[in-house]
Amino acid sequence: MFDVINPATEEVVGSVSMATAEEADAAIARAAKAFPAWRAVAPGDRARLLRRFADLVDADRENLALLEVMNSGHTIGNARWEAGNVRDVLHYFAASPERLTGRQIPVAGGLDVTFAEPLGVVGVIVPWNFPMPIAAWGFAPALAAGNTVVVKPAELTPLTALRLAELAREAGIPDDVLQVVPGRGTVVGQRFVDNPAVRKVVFTGSTEVGKKIMAGCAAQVKRVTLELGGKNANIVFADADVERAAAAAPYGVFDNAGQDCCARSRVLVQRSVYDRFMELLEPAVRGFVVGDPAAEATEMGPLISDSHRAKVRSYLPDGAPIAFQGHAPDGPGFWFPPTVVTPAGARDPLAVDEIFGPVVAVLPFTDEAEAIAMANDTDYGLAASIWTRDVGRALRVARAVEAGNLSVNSHSSVRYWTPFGGVKQSGLGRELGPDALAAFTEVKNVFIDTEG
Ligand code: NAP
Ligand code: MG
Repeated sequence: MFDVINPATEEVVGSVSMATAEEADAAIARAAKAFPAWRAVAPGDRARLLRRFADLVDADRENLALLEVMNSGHTIGNARWEAGNVRDVLHYFAASPERLTGRQIPVAGGLDVTFAEPLGVVGVIVPWNFPMPIAAWGFAPALAAGNTVVVKPAELTPLTALRLAELAREAGIPDDVLQVVPGRGTVVGQRFVDNPAVRKVVFTGSTEVGKKIMAGCAAQVKRVTLELGGKNANIVFADADVERAAAAAPYGVFDNAGQDCCARSRVLVQRSVYDRFMELLEPAVRGFVVGDPAAEATEMGPLISDSHRAKVRSYLPDGAPIAFQGHAPDGPGFWFPPTVVTPAGARDPLAVDEIFGPVVAVLPFTDEAEAIAMANDTDYGLAASIWTRDVGRALRVARAVEAGNLSVNSHSSVRYWTPFGGVKQSGLGRELGPDALAAFTEVKNVFIDTEG
């Protein structure tokens, strides 16, 4: 059994039994058994079941949100958005079963057609930072394409995934088509990699574990989608609306207490406006509302665990270049204040590592070329923001920054109908958007001789 802790209070709020390797294999076997019937469900019926699932998620939105507040310390506003995102992702992919068309390709002597075939059992490994959306970004398109799915939630945050599986059953999705199997990554997650009945692994989490998953899957040429870390640049040019850029910067990094692979945790500011930017940033950071995540006005809750807080804190030993910090509650809960640092150089770990907490590094740059070079001076490549009033510059820099998700005069990276994913060591493949189904299907080509 695993005790689930409320990170804002440190109270135990439930306990969940952890699957063994044998239990994981049994779930995978049930998913494999359920696959032929699920892929044979008529497209319109599969669509209807997914829409019904979406409707039940919508009806349960407040309950799901409160569960996430309790289990993950997410602010209530964010948690509502996250539950709504699951609904929207389900509705979006519910439109695809009837649209999974192949092609007819001209050939001599017959007919050539392609089919988008489901893969079989898909294993989805979910981290603790966005338990609901990340699970849904895997299971919704996978189910829509006719696959069966086993989900392994993070040990720390299993509650909403378990609730989503109940709602799927209530919606009439047949037994074993969507299973949630709580357990350790090294036990249950590892079975997704090693058990040959799992035909694809969708992994979101650290780059370190992602590499192991990819290496493990290579043994069976198993398909993978990887969504890994980021050290995302927020580039502020002197010609930007500096007031707006400074007001938005805290939200770009401190949302979800910085536990976001898209967190804009490296702010690069053009030297001529650096002092002005810092002057504007300070009150915005000091005023950031950190506290009870269930309170409507709260902008940031606690970190996920004591050990994660210790990791974040380890980046700020005595003498660390802290420019200023916001506030955080005292007492129980894994609190950490919003923190702005000014590393001495671009190779400082504060400027290089994914800290995954409310710590943002601010660094100056001289010109556009240097800003691009600094933004790209990382093994990661998930997201970046560009603040400028010059449309030519916005497009030049957006094309030059090696990242999968760019935003101009905004920090917004995620829409369920636009592609999401990273380049370099931030990942492999794209989730969401119009092409996501391709990652859950294989193209089969069939030639029919019409001459015989
Ligand atoms: P992690 O170890 O990569 O965990 C992510 C998921 O993978 C969890 O469900 C985990 O299970 C599972 N897992 C762990 N080892 C596995 C293995 N050998 N085989 C299969 N599955 C495995 O991430 P973490 O330890 O929670 O966080 C560490 C750091 O990763 C963070 O500080 C942050 O920098 C980064 N991170 C990034 C993201 C992202 O969105 N890109 C998300 C989370 C973390 P358990 O729950 O049992 O560990
Ligand atoms: Mg780990």
